Amino acid sequence: MKQQILIIGAGFGGMWSALSAVRLLDQHERLDVAVTLLAPQAELRVRPRFYESDLVTTVAPLGPLFDAVGVQFVQGSATRIDAAGKRVIYRDASGAQAELKFDRLILASGSQVARPPLAGIDRFAFDVDSLESAQQLNIHLQGLRDKPDSQARNTVVVVGGGFTGIETATEMPARLRAILGSEADVRVIVVDMGKQVGSAMGEQIASVIAEASDTLGVTWKLGSPVSMVDEHGVQLDNGERIEASTVVWTVGVKASPLTQQIDGERDAFGRLHVDRNLKVLGQDAIYATGDTAYAAVDDRGNHALMTCQHAIALGRSSGNNAAADLLGVAPTPYSQVKYVTCLDLGAWGAVFTEGWERKVVLTGKEGKAIKTEINTKWIYPPEAKREIALAAADPLIPVVA
Ligand SMILES: Cc1cc2nc3c(=O)[nH]c(=O)nc-3n(C[C@H](O)[C@H](O)[C@H](O)COP(=O)(O)OP(=O)(O)OC[C@H]3O[C@@H](n4cnc5c(N)ncnc54)[C@H](O)[C@@H]3O)c2cc1C
Repeated sequence: MKQQILIIGAGFGGMWSALSAVRLLDQHERLDVAVTLLAPQAELRVRPRFYESDLVTTVAPLGPLFDAVGVQFVQGSATRIDAAGKRVIYRDASGAQAELKFDRLILASGSQVARPPLAGIDRFAFDVDSLESAQQLNIHLQGLRDKPDSQARNTVVVVGGGFTGIETATEMPARLRAILGSEADVRVIVVDMGKQVGSAMGEQIASVIAEASDTLGVTWKLGSPVSMVDEHGVQLDNGERIEASTVVWTVGVKASPLTQQIDGERDAFGRLHVDRNLKVLGQDAIYATGDTAYAAVDDRGNHALMTCQHAIALGRSSGNNAAADLLGVAPTPYSQVKYVTCLDLGAWGAVFTEGWERKVVLTGKEGKAIKTEINTKWIYPPEAKREIALAAADPLIPVVA
């Protein structure tokens, strides 16, 4: 009977885990270990692009890639992790319950937006967190065309001025004008708790965000949280009201609920604490990767963020190290000293920064050229050819954006 490396999730962390595990097994000519990946779809859903209007190209098929490298794909959704019994219970595509055994498990089930218990939020607020929710927002925006012209119809409130909120808001004037006409009097308002435009992203980048917002006509309401969402807009804690037919929620994120099923320490986002090889602290056969892992990136106290930049490198390490553990060979400790940010700023361009303090390096068109490369090439799966795909999964390849 073959030993099993089981991976839950086909996002950046899961896909790269699968490839890097196969790569190491291949190098040691170990045909007695199988790599199985469980996820609802054999596709990489490129979440960093869900603020865009064209969602068709944000989904990359993984079936041919898994076939090329010999990863067994199982379609389903994990419902229970039995760490002691080394098995995962899941619902298959038909809704039936089934189980998969593992010798090593890699949890790569990602994260989701964390909506607070606010009145009206679930009924009336959209988000750009998943393919389905981004599609719903798209359908709603298209539907505005058939509504009578009014200030509320032409207004989008984006709640949250962090990374996702800024990208969503700065893209929105062009999206609205494409639907409502180039002369439409569109309003895009970011509601943020901060005291300054873009302050959540750090001092150095904030002035760039402010300049882009001004140019695009995106305005900010600062210093007060939203207290209620309804069909016609949002109410702020300070009593102010904004009439808007569209409210997009971007505040807060939490790790996949599957993290709760594994005994171990968790950070404020629910991510599992892992060692330098990405094994969950206190577990002997379970690894966490991508947005489910609270992992040190260096020896200076920095930790991975919930970004695909980190999830790609984490995946290449976790797969390699789970395989190394089974093979009894030395692992390759995870390390990702370089950190960059590339923030899309709609028709204004983009801003590219380096370092944890986000030192601005490129802005405008130059920034946008890098953002386009990242969003259309660098974060997509490798070609579905065995040699190319396995070479790309080397955990020592630096991820630069
Ligand atoms: C709008 C937006 C913009 C972003 N912009 C950027 C950016 O510019 N740069 C950047 O670096 N990052 C960005 N991110 C963050 C980035 O998308 C995430 O950090 C990244 O997707 C995490 O990868 P992951 O593999 O851990 O999880 P995910 O990509 O979320 O993948 C999780 C996988 O697990 C599967 N899964 C979940 N639950 C189960 C279950 N119970 N059973 C089986 N499978 C399951 C899912 O179907 C999916 O296949 C952005 C995110 C969003 C939403």
